[in-house]
Amino acid sequence: MPTARSPSSSSVASSWTLPAGMRATKATRALAALYEARPDAALSESEVEAALAAAGAPVNKVTVYRMLDRFAAAGLLHKQVDAARVTRFALASQDEDTAVPRFECGDCHRQFRLAQGSARVQSALKQVLAALATAGHESLAVDVAVRGRCAGCAHPAGGAAA
Ligand SMILES: [Zn+2]
Repeated sequence: MPTARSPSSSSVASSWTLPAGMRATKATRALAALYEARPDAALSESEVEAALAAAGAPVNKVTVYRMLDRFAAAGLLHKQVDAARVTRFALASQDEDTAVPRFECGDCHRQFRLAQGSARVQSALKQVLAALATAGHESLAVDVAVRGRCAGCAHPAGGAAA
């Protein structure tokens, strides 16, 4: 897997508003690029630490935790604890420009975040929003949802795993 070293990754980082008092560093940019590349990932500190090192921005554990906590406090990341009591950080949904498409089942009302194609949908959305902004429109809430019936409801006999 190629590391995010292309100039285009800097535009990704600029879409994040850094928390007050936080400087844009190689590490914060790498962190933003990491979540942009994996918008559905809920990453642990050690996974983030490894990914930043792989991206050429190695930082120590304390710094990784500090960054993640500050991004979480700023609402950019959502902090959660998994079943194994590992703290994980996932991208918080941001209505204005990074709406994550989701699927809603009309029968059981479960919601799934759509991983596949999500990045493409988001980049398309950004173009739409940029065009609207250019036209002078502002403050747009984006909600992308696909409604239908989930596999479990559509094919109950198939015994689809949850
Ligand atoms: Zn369903």
